[in-house]
Amino acid sequence: MSIVTRFPPSPTGFMHVGNARTALFNYLFARRHGGKFLVRIEDTDRKRHSEEAVKAIFDGLAWMGLEYDGEALSQFARMDRHAEVAKQMVAAGKAYYCYCSPEELDAMREKAKAEGSPTFYDRRWRDRDPSEAPAGVQPVVRIKAPLDGSTTINDVVQGEVTVAHEQLDDFIILRSDGTPTYMLSVVVDDYDMGVTHILRGDDHLNNTFRQKIIYDAMGWHVPIFGHLPLIHGPDGSKFSKRHGAQSVGEYRDLGYLPEALCNYLLRLGWSHGDEEIIPREKAIEWFDLEHIGRSPARFDFAKLESLNAHYIKEASAAHLIDSSRRFFRERHGLELGDLAVSRITQGVEELKNRSKTLIQFADEAAFYARTIPYAFDEKAKAQIAESRPVLEALLEALAKLNDFSAEGVQNICKAVAADLAEGKLGKVAMPLRAAVTGTTVSPSIFEACAILGPEETCARIRFALQQG
Ligand code: GLU
Repeated sequence: MSIVTRFPPSPTGFMHVGNARTALFNYLFARRHGGKFLVRIEDTDRKRHSEEAVKAIFDGLAWMGLEYDGEALSQFARMDRHAEVAKQMVAAGKAYYCYCSPEELDAMREKAKAEGSPTFYDRRWRDRDPSEAPAGVQPVVRIKAPLDGSTTINDVVQGEVTVAHEQLDDFIILRSDGTPTYMLSVVVDDYDMGVTHILRGDDHLNNTFRQKIIYDAMGWHVPIFGHLPLIHGPDGSKFSKRHGAQSVGEYRDLGYLPEALCNYLLRLGWSHGDEEIIPREKAIEWFDLEHIGRSPARFDFAKLESLNAHYIKEASAAHLIDSSRRFFRERHGLELGDLAVSRITQGVEELKNRSKTLIQFADEAAFYARTIPYAFDEKAKAQIAESRPVLEALLEALAKLNDFSAEGVQNICKAVAADLAEGKLGKVAMPLRAAVTGTTVSPSIFEACAILGPEETCARIRFALQQG
């Protein structure tokens, strides 16, 4: 059997990490078996529909590197097909027109409430002759749910789950305005798309029993289901805004690499022995349904951050620089030109070790991209103000230095420290850092000067000395 999975998000304006994890699992399972991973946008709620919300989904998928097969489908565009299936079921005696008025339905609801019944619709049109239909009423179409017995679903994550049929009512599949309900659309689309495996959040488990009635009514093969436990917050309660960032876009904006978020989401709810670092190729090689966890996983921000630090260390300079360009721009107003890229590339190993996020990377590397005139922060200003003789001596010595390596610069600093700062290297390195970077926090200043080169380093010291 060729495997077909799907990701059918409702466009809500952002992509929740729970949805992202569902997409990832479906993607990995399809790729693992050389199958297809399809995307369908469940865009039938036209009142709230926005193209921007749809874009957020495609952006999220692209950022995470979850390429899908073929064209993404629009559920809304397929409404006629859904309605046609509803009518086929009526013709086959599997569904029927119901002409109940809102008042009748209200009365049924009240009665069911009083009796504590799990369903309310009393199926009064199920076997009634259509010739009794009241004039001028647009009917809904209801499915004939089984009246007794039970259905058991062998869920690949949850195991066997059974629901007694008395829990299931003859639910509506086509509204009186002729539009299909969600329950019908999902089944018709999944069938038409040839979906073999449905992995989705366990908030859809109850729907599965209703959807199976439609599959059975049409004589369609029922796909394999796996319902994933939801993600919880670190404290075990429902994961929500108060715990921290919720969407893929937020993590991107916080400076996470997609590799890290994907690895984290994969491990959150699936395991392969004790492996923590699972890059994409390994994930595709190893992913299986047997090792999806049955209980809700707690979101662990520290773990995600440490994975991000790991992937930052593993990344090439070019990848890191490209992924963090936006932070240089947004946070420092800097567009990276060739010179900046070359300097950052030379200093990248130390920058990597100092960065858990791309924001930290951009903040730490920004000085390489600055050009005179640049601003000094308050601490840097103070350092410069109290160390003018040190900076003047440094400038003189550095201007004459032939070996402008990190070691060469350090030796000059040591000599200046011996002369002017009782041998305390920090008393020279700190003002040098303040002058050259405009801040008091940076990678090794000796290496930084070597990378900037003699002309730029001396020009920056001179510029710093002109301040205040
Ligand atoms: N559109 C649904 C959601 O975003 C998914 C339904 C399904 O997976 O069957 O929750």
